[in-house]
Amino acid sequence: MAVLFPHLDGLRIDGVDSVGVRVRIDAKTSGEPAACPGCGTLSRRVHSRYRRRLSDTAITGREVVIRLRVRRLFCDNSDCGRGTFAEQVPLLAARYARRTAILQRLLCAVALALGGRPGARMTRHLAATVSRMTLLRQIRALPDPDRGTPRVIGVDLSRAGDYPVVLHG
Ligand SMILES: [Zn+2]
Repeated sequence: MAVLFPHLDGLRIDGVDSVGVRVRIDAKTSGEPAACPGCGTLSRRVHSRYRRRLSDTAITGREVVIRLRVRRLFCDNSDCGRGTFAEQVPLLAARYARRTAILQRLLCAVALALGGRPGARMTRHLAATVSRMTLLRQIRALPDPDRGTPRVIGVDLSRAGDYPVVLHG
């Protein structure tokens, strides 16, 4: 598992099933204490559990979905206003993300290489179909390169409708 699925390292795999044209991986977090994002206090006291559904990169051309059970934990630090917090799996996916970090990087590369519409068509062949707008959001979510203040800002009209292009002078 660690060789084929390094991003699932540290999780417990409950099952890998074929569901229609998809591969479904059921997994849960290890149960180790997790740090409150507000104050850093470690906790393993469970408030509740819930499922996150994460799309992942394809396996042998088949779409992969990870059903991940995560915990909402109590923060027992009385000075911390949070009360409870959801544990995170930073190696696997960003907070609130519906796709794994690996898939997001792949979609971002497709979007940068092909743009919106051709990129969206390409994702069908990658068994990770997303819309043109979803692809373009991957680019917008990229951190700004630190190149100083742009002197010329324009829109590349040959790609109008895809995404604005900022020219750095
Ligand atoms: Zn806290």
